[in-house]
Amino acid sequence: MHSTTQHTLVRLATTGVMLAAGALVELRLMHGYGVPVLLALPCGLAVGLGAGHLVEALTARLATTVFHCRAAGCSYKVRVTHVDAGERRRWQEAAASHPGHELNPRY
Ligand SMILES: [Zn+2]
Repeated sequence: MHSTTQHTLVRLATTGVMLAAGALVELRLMHGYGVPVLLALPCGLAVGLGAGHLVEALTARLATTVFHCRAAGCSYKVRVTHVDAGERRRWQEAAASHPGHELNPRY
């Protein structure tokens, strides 16, 4: 299976689990106060969606690598996510040898 497809499936699964968990927790908390299910359910889904988005953002942040050009005064950088060692090496070399250093001035 392609890596991007796997990550998409993991993201969808994570979002689904977080939605369900948020809805269940919210429903359980609100049940004692007599809040109708149709009112508590959207709140739970919103909480779950927010938590899922947070987990997804943190996961993406941890899986992202940024390669900077090392030329003096150049701000060029490449940000790649979910790459293997070979692809990481190619992007690292591409960032180090890109043309047009003068087009990316560091201010
Ligand atoms: Zn450069």
